Amino acid sequence: MSHLCLDTTVQATLCWGKTPQPRSLVRRMHQHELIIVGAGPVGLAAGIEAQRVGLDFLILEAGTVCQSLVEYPVGMRFYSPADELAIGGYPFPTPHDEKPTREMALNYYRKVASATNLPIRTYERVVRIERSADGFVLHTLHMPHQTPATYGAKCVLVCTGVWGKGRRLAVEGADLPHVWTRYDEPIRFWRKRVLIVGSGNSAGEAAIRLADADAQVWLAVDQPRLEQCRFRPFILREVLLRVDEQRITPLTCAQVRRIAADYVELRCAEGIESLPVDFVLTLIGLEADLSLLQPLGVLLGADGKPLHDPETYETSVSGLFVAGALSQDGFIYVARERVKQAIQAIATRVRGSKA
Ligand SMILES: Cc1cc2nc3c(=O)[nH]c(=O)nc-3n(C[C@H](O)[C@H](O)[C@H](O)COP(=O)(O)OP(=O)(O)OC[C@H]3O[C@@H](n4cnc5c(N)ncnc54)[C@H](O)[C@@H]3O)c2cc1C
Repeated sequence: MSHLCLDTTVQATLCWGKTPQPRSLVRRMHQHELIIVGAGPVGLAAGIEAQRVGLDFLILEAGTVCQSLVEYPVGMRFYSPADELAIGGYPFPTPHDEKPTREMALNYYRKVASATNLPIRTYERVVRIERSADGFVLHTLHMPHQTPATYGAKCVLVCTGVWGKGRRLAVEGADLPHVWTRYDEPIRFWRKRVLIVGSGNSAGEAAIRLADADAQVWLAVDQPRLEQCRFRPFILREVLLRVDEQRITPLTCAQVRRIAADYVELRCAEGIESLPVDFVLTLIGLEADLSLLQPLGVLLGADGKPLHDPETYETSVSGLFVAGALSQDGFIYVARERVKQAIQAIATRVRGSKA
C-alpha cells in the first residue's frame, strides 16, 4: 500500500553561478510491509526468512554488511564453530573445521548477502523512528553526505545489536583520547605501556594479543585471582602462560580511581597506586544503543534491553519488533532460529493470516 507524503531528501538544484538550493519533492513513499534495521548476522537471517515468506521488505544498514564484525579486532577468532554462525541454511565451511576468524565470517556473510540478493541499503543510518497512521516512518542519513531520506513500513524489526557503545568507567579521565573501549590492530600498541581493565573474555584476549605484539601489558581485574575471572578456559591458560613469562602483569582486586594523561591512579592487591601508561583499554562490556527505541516509549527490562514478547519478539510498541543481541539472544545460533518467530509474527500481522 502506498500513500502521499513529503519526501525530505534534500536535492541540490544545479544552477550555474547560483548557490544550490535544497528542494523538497512531493512523491509517493512506498509503504513496505517490513523494514529491518541492521544487516548484522541476525538482520541478514531475518531478511532471508522475510524473503522466504514473501514479505515486501527492506534492510537499512548504517555501515556495510556486518559492520559490527568489520569493527571487531583484526584476526579475532570466534568461540563458536562455523556451523553455529551459519545463517539461512547456507553451509559455512572452514579449513579442517577450525573455528572461524573475523575475516572468514565477513567473507561468509558477504557471500550469503550476495547469493540471496537481499534488498539492503548500506551506509543508510536510521536516526529516528516515528509512528504514522498505518505503521512507522523511518528517518535516515545516507553516507557520505548525510543525505536525509524517509521510508515507510507497517512493521519494523530492529536488529542493531549491542556493539554500538562500549561501556566507560565512571571515573575522571575515562573519556581522555588515549582511553579506548575497543581496539582493532594489536600492532598499534607495539612497545607501549597499556593498562587493560576488565575480567571478561575480551579483556583476557586483548591482553594476550597485545603481549604478543610486544606491548607492556597490565591486566586489571576486579577478582582476587585470575582463575576467578570470567575467562574461558583456553583464554585463562594463555593469560597465565604470559604471566609466567612476565609479559602480562596482573593487578587483582583492582579499582581504577582516576585516569590522567600519562598515568592511572588505582587501588589493587599488588599495592600499585600510580601506573605510568600510554594507553588504557577499558573492556568492561557493551551497551545497547537505545536512541531509536526510547523516544517511541519502548519499555526496558532490568538489563536495559527492550522488553518483548518471548514468542513474537514484539516490543511494548505495537508493530515494533527486536531480535538478535539487542533482544538478549547473544549467540548467533540461538538468534538465527528465534528471528524466524518474529518474521512469522510480522507476516501474520501484515496479512492477517499465517504465512
Ligand atoms: C569479540 C566478540 C566475539 C564474539 N564471538 C561470538 C561467538 O563465538 N559466537 C556467537 O554466537 N556470538 C559471538 N559474539 C556475539 C555476536 O557477534 C553477536 O551476537 C552478533 O553479531 C549479533 O548479531 P546482530 O545482528 O544482532 O548484531 P550486530 O552483529 O551487532 O549487527 C548490528 C548491525 O546493525 C547496524 N546498525 C546499528 N545501528 C544502526 C542504525 N541506527 N541504523 C542502521 N543500522 C544500524 C550495525 O552497523 C550492524 O551492522 C561475539 C561478539 C564479540 C564482540
